[in-house]
Amino acid sequence: MTDLSTVKILVPGRFHPETFETLQATFDVVTIPGRDASVLTEEQRQAIRGIAQGGSVPASLMDALPNLEIVANFGVGYDGVDVAHAAAKGIMVTNTPDVLTEEVADTTVGLLLMTVREFPAAERHLREGRWHGEGAYRLTPMTLRGRRVGIMGLGRIGLAIARRLEGFGVPIAYHNRSPRSDVAYAYHDTLQGLAEAVDTLIIAAPGGAATEKAVDAAVLKALGPDGVLINIGRGTTVDEAALIEALETGTIAAAGLDVFENEPHVPERLTALPNTVLLPHVGSASRHTRREMGNLVIANLKAWFSGEEPVSPVAECVKAGISRAGR
Ligand code: NAP
Repeated sequence: MTDLSTVKILVPGRFHPETFETLQATFDVVTIPGRDASVLTEEQRQAIRGIAQGGSVPASLMDALPNLEIVANFGVGYDGVDVAHAAAKGIMVTNTPDVLTEEVADTTVGLLLMTVREFPAAERHLREGRWHGEGAYRLTPMTLRGRRVGIMGLGRIGLAIARRLEGFGVPIAYHNRSPRSDVAYAYHDTLQGLAEAVDTLIIAAPGGAATEKAVDAAVLKALGPDGVLINIGRGTTVDEAALIEALETGTIAAAGLDVFENEPHVPERLTALPNTVLLPHVGSASRHTRREMGNLVIANLKAWFSGEEPVSPVAECVKAGISRAGR
């Protein structure tokens, strides 16, 4: 039985403080400020067997750690981890699915309503004393009533969003690479086709090369002048320049965004627009849910270094046949 307190785990960059405390109490933790392994001693590089982190793990960091066995990602999306490189080297990657699904779906519905009914602007109207001074906030040109919603990425989070929206009485359609057999929502085999069929497009698909700039000028044009885009997935999935252009020219009506192409940098042209609601990537950001995510990171590392299979390995590593038993 391995004494976990002797297992060296690297935490590169900033990490969820509560999870970091538990990691330190359980393992032998080494920290570095960023992703540059050259700040480690040769002895540390040789000894590190795991990484716990919530941002990116480039191939160069994996290559600098010859005895790395597992990357435990804090987050369900692991587009920042070079998972193809990990799988090729036999390194396990884990993520934190399910425990954040309901929180992110709640955030999405909130963002949708904020965008369509202009709640942030209406609230500013009250706080600035304008209700009293100028009168009621304007009647909103947009409403959720009569809208048709399309979801790109009807996975765990997408389905939780769809189930909530059923209660709002709006028809739902979706686009995945393949149709689901367990839902009756209309399936579109292209994103363009989905955008043509709806006026409200919610992105809940993973980031990465396969979805990069998938929401482009043509998709936005298809969404149309009453169109609303909600992005809770990844900023890279939307061509941000094309989106700004579409919002400025009225090609679509409004956008609610929790994620951006180059976080935490948000283009001034986006923040200047009155028809955007912008959140600083807070989809899962409650104490409750972040704690649950942290617990899953720890559970994956504990299982692996106790000789058991991790709780939530990513699909690419399972497909590549990477397992604890295979070591
Ligand atoms: P999931 O269960 O794996 O669902 C992903 C869905 O996207 C699946 O239905 C998948 O269906 C579809 N998909 C994957 N690649 C696609 C492609 N190239 N084109 C079209 N559809 C594609 O993942 P999840 O747990 O719902 O999480 C989804 C994403 O949400 C994460 O990857 C992350 O980026 C994002 N997220 C954001 C926040 C936030 O704070 N804003 C928080 C958590 C997660 P097919 O396989 O059939 O294509």
